[in-house]
Amino acid sequence: MAYQNAALHVEGVSLDALAAQHQTPLFVYSKAAMLSALASYQRGFAGRDALICYAMKANSSLAVLQLFAQNGCGFDIVSGGELARVLKAGADPQKVIFSGVGKTRAEMRQALEAGIACFNVESIAELDVLNEVALSMNRIASISLRVNPNVDPKTHPYISTGLKGNKFGIAHEEALGAYRHAASLKGLRVAGIDCHIGSQITEVTPYVDAMDRVLDLVSSVEAAGIPIHHIDFGGGLGINYNGDTPPEADALWAQLLAKIDARGFRGKQLMIEPGRSLVGNAGVCVTEVLFTKQGSDKNFCIVDAAMNDLPRPAMYQGFHAIVPCSAPSKPQLTRPAQEVIYDVVGPVCESGDWLGKDRALDVRAGELLAVLSTGAYCMAMASNYNTRGRAAEVLVDGDTATLIRVRETADDQMRMERML
Ligand SMILES: *Cc1c(COP(=O)(O)O)cnc(C)c1O
Repeated sequence: MAYQNAALHVEGVSLDALAAQHQTPLFVYSKAAMLSALASYQRGFAGRDALICYAMKANSSLAVLQLFAQNGCGFDIVSGGELARVLKAGADPQKVIFSGVGKTRAEMRQALEAGIACFNVESIAELDVLNEVALSMNRIASISLRVNPNVDPKTHPYISTGLKGNKFGIAHEEALGAYRHAASLKGLRVAGIDCHIGSQITEVTPYVDAMDRVLDLVSSVEAAGIPIHHIDFGGGLGINYNGDTPPEADALWAQLLAKIDARGFRGKQLMIEPGRSLVGNAGVCVTEVLFTKQGSDKNFCIVDAAMNDLPRPAMYQGFHAIVPCSAPSKPQLTRPAQEVIYDVVGPVCESGDWLGKDRALDVRAGELLAVLSTGAYCMAMASNYNTRGRAAEVLVDGDTATLIRVRETADDQMRMERML
């Protein structure tokens, strides 16, 4: 993404042109950016028995799933809905793994029917129910146990998942007992071990510590006579939102693979579940400035995108950079530069509806802004709050832009409802 002739472009297409054609708010994704993020993982695992399972909850648009399926990815799903979506997008079910702390019996049946690769089980109670469901279908469910390595990923508490006190996973101390129980159940086959310590992790140390803890468990489970075929190390690698400097995927995995090899586990198949790091930096949201307004303490830049489109700021004080779609140096711009410190806010009737605080911007009503790094956990978490239709989405490939989701209308939103 760069300014060309003072107009912000995603690959070869200007955001001004896309907004004129498709209106705003509009999500625009770069195919090249997604494939280059994937390539970093693929380089990291070159020559290894490894499966990259895109954690599709980060961005579950069908065209995005197609792109990853066509480039060899498996998928990490967390619901029956995600399974239906990913199969529609052409995924190989044998490359699908099913995570999540609360799978229903119906979802278990659906996944067994589809023939997915593995269930990542998060409790002993879930082992028993999955066993029962599998036996009732005359199937055997491959499982790995999601263990909780109790390391601090040093990220926002709402997206930290590997600490004691989280709802996720099985405590390290209980894992061996849970494996013994799993191995005793006829409807289950123990396949692997799984962990996922959190999201937007920008440091290497929590990963290295978690790997050590997981490998300790692999040793003790195998010493108990239960072979572990694969190690699933979850997702969580961070992206650059605000000058963040996460490690590159290939550099991170060079360190983790060295650790795996040094501890004698080179033969294990590896799986990972990256979400944000594959798509987050590949998307922008284009929004139009509706009004600027002087409050008594603050200036507000009111835009046509809101918390229903971009929920991260409201949910976890997430940061997105916000830049003008036309560079301020644009030669045909006749007005003098006039930067003002704004809170950039949406039209939704909530004080939590802000997209950025204290941002220096030189904008007027009618101009376009790009909210950056919105490829992950934005459209996928979008809602219809305030009966706002969800935004349209475009995927750019070089000079070609493809509309991958049309803008939702009021009729679309009311279609499921029945009048008295
Ligand atoms: C959300 C999630 C992921 C992906 O996390 P990212 O931070 O987007 O990489 C992977 N595995 C599990 C179990 C998850 O819940």
